[in-house]
Amino acid sequence: MFKKMHKNFKLISPENVYYSYKGEIFYKGIKNIWNYETISFKKSDYYCTDCNTILYNKKISIEVNTEDRIKKVNNIYACSNCKKFHIIEKDVVYTYNAENEFEKKLYELDELKEDIEIFKYIDKEKDLENK
Ligand SMILES: [Zn+2]
Repeated sequence: MFKKMHKNFKLISPENVYYSYKGEIFYKGIKNIWNYETISFKKSDYYCTDCNTILYNKKISIEVNTEDRIKKVNNIYACSNCKKFHIIEKDVVYTYNAENEFEKKLYELDELKEDIEIFKYIDKEKDLENK
């Protein structure tokens, strides 16, 4: 389930950009870490303030099971460092902590081309494990 959290992501602004000694572009205090070969996840405009890593996102119409209710969302964000998926809304962020399932879930999401209640299915899996 996606747990409700206080907003803790920030937009990447041009002031945060600087050049390293190697001539590669980095974002000030923000790492661009993405070791996955994904088709549909792209670099987003947000970075994770927990680990200073750029979030990648996929635009997809999907239903997710959140702490509040089942929500229809159009965008899902991933932090490859924290191994979490996020739904970013105006005043709130919903977070799914995938932990060691992150890679598996990422590739499942990456391949999705149409609506599927994937996170409801994921939650069921986890609930079963806990019983
Ligand atoms: Zn993170």
